[in-house]
Amino acid sequence: MADRFITIKEVALKNNCPECYNNEGLQLTFKQKFMESNFYKSITQETKHILHCNTCNTTIYPISWTDDIERVVKYHQRAFAPKKPSFKLKKKAWLLISVTLMVLAAGIVLFVLKDKL
Ligand SMILES: [Zn+2]
Repeated sequence: MADRFITIKEVALKNNCPECYNNEGLQLTFKQKFMESNFYKSITQETKHILHCNTCNTTIYPISWTDDIERVVKYHQRAFAPKKPSFKLKKKAWLLISVTLMVLAAGIVLFVLKDKL
């Protein structure tokens, strides 16, 4: 089973980067966790956000955020609308369920007929 975070939204921030002080490189990325196996696909409620500076190519962790950055991130967090959680069975799973049901049905028919023969 593979689970991965998929980018849902990217926002360019005008704040100064705590590392290189450039104000054009900060990018806030919102990601949401998806899960996929052979039989199902699911969107989970789990989200995370990452602040990255494209100028100095550094991930800016909350520990080095300034008050301004924190405020802006909070603002975008409130505005962020994650995808609705969902769970979908794949064709393969439906096929397996149908085959199981058919085998069961056949078994019941045979069981009922057995007494009548
Ligand atoms: Zn930077």
